[in-house]
Amino acid sequence: MSDSVERKTISDSEAERIHSMQNLDTFLPVVFENGSRVDKLTIICSCCGSEKQPEEIKASGSVLPHSASLNIWGICYECRLITPSAVRLRDDGSMLTRDPGGNWTEGRYAEEKKTGVWTAVKSIISRLIVK
Ligand SMILES: [Zn+2]
Repeated sequence: MSDSVERKTISDSEAERIHSMQNLDTFLPVVFENGSRVDKLTIICSCCGSEKQPEEIKASGSVLPHSASLNIWGICYECRLITPSAVRLRDDGSMLTRDPGGNWTEGRYAEEKKTGVWTAVKSIISRLIVK
């Protein structure tokens, strides 16, 4: 997919619709039932590469107890460009992000958790050894 396709200008009504959306801030932090949380999400302008500030990012979507799905638009006033993206967050720390070209990338927003059981067993063992 060429850059020119991704950077095609959007219609005024589309721009207006995006402008009237909630700021990404209103969804943050995303806190799941198991305590996993995401405090910050950002988007890079696909034209100039600058990191957009929270007030320049619009979002829509839903946050559920175990996952969240957000569509995100980064607005760059310098470039007069809106960069669309999307993110799927799961409570196990994994995430999927969609770049402006529509490709999904798997990633993580949190370290993979070591199993709690093993940690508990180990601390019991070490206590026994010390005694
Ligand atoms: Zn820009």
